[in-house]
Amino acid sequence: MQKEKAIIIGSGPAGLTAALYTARANLEPLVISGNQLGGQISITNEVENYPGFPEGTTGPELVELMQKQAERFGARILIDEVTEVDFLGGSPFTVKTHGDTFEADVVIICVGASPRRLGIPGEEEMIGRGVSFCATCDGFFFRDKDVVVVGGGDSALEEGLFLTRFVDHVKVIHRRDELRAGEALKRRAFANEKVDFLWDTVVDEIVGDGKVEAVKTRNVKTDEVSELATDGVFIFIGHYPNSDLFKGQLEMDENGYLITDDRIMTSIPGVFAAGEIMDPVFRQIATSVGQGCAAAMMAERWLEEQE
Ligand code: NAP
Repeated sequence: MQKEKAIIIGSGPAGLTAALYTARANLEPLVISGNQLGGQISITNEVENYPGFPEGTTGPELVELMQKQAERFGARILIDEVTEVDFLGGSPFTVKTHGDTFEADVVIICVGASPRRLGIPGEEEMIGRGVSFCATCDGFFFRDKDVVVVGGGDSALEEGLFLTRFVDHVKVIHRRDELRAGEALKRRAFANEKVDFLWDTVVDEIVGDGKVEAVKTRNVKTDEVSELATDGVFIFIGHYPNSDLFKGQLEMDENGYLITDDRIMTSIPGVFAAGEIMDPVFRQIATSVGQGCAAAMMAERWLEEQE
């Protein structure tokens, strides 16, 4: 059993910021990365709204810089996944990964969220065969093809616009007649001649023989059903928190987000949470960074109070 002062679970902007602050507080944090170092932003191509980068930056670049900065002050990053935790006995907490078992005086949970699925026939079977949740990862494979994007939020438009670098045409299918996305992205999408919209429409099925060939759509106002030929289906309909690991141990809301108090502490004293695992509202890189910083400061203070 390896003994640590602070373990940070997750390595997105919240986790890497918590690592930087706990490292500078001499807590020698161990960051357990999860299956994707950097989390969701590591597969985000353009980041235009993170302060300090007037020309914008990319997700992978931001991750690399955040990681280097945390490591400079002594944070260690372990590329592994947490498989089990035991928080119920109080501090020190047990954290198990595929390879090791650790004991930690404080834990900061920054495991983020994952893309939601439509839950329709064809979706699961054709992931990697035309169904994707990541334009940055898969856009290249759709050069000169036609694709649909499902969703009407910032992600749908941002990723849809990114896809126009490769594809011939993007049809955004949205269940309402008004987009949820912000004004800047709306303006860019409406102005892009490769993008058009199918309003008040849901996708009921993804069809194809071994690869995506079409989507079955339904107009929610008229109930009219149609089949639309397409080479790819990119789904951006929001996210769900990755909190399964903590069921039965930490309090969560009805959607699975961890509940924290005004010290950003979970229902177990000494276990803190930051980023999209506890924040269903803001969900920005900038807010995750702020929450990671706050969790680290509170974790340090909590440890001091225990001495
Ligand atoms: P979101 O804002 O929750 O939008 C999800 C979209 O998917 C909504 O338009 C929603 O429709 C639609 N949807 C949800 N469930 C659906 C279903 N079962 N079938 C069909 N459509 C469905 O999620 P997001 O776009 O991933 O954004 C998440 C957060 O990250 C937001 O706070 C966003 O501002 C932020 N973000 C910001 C940027 C940026 O600033 N550049 C980029 C990406 C994300 P309704 O509108 O009808 O609910």
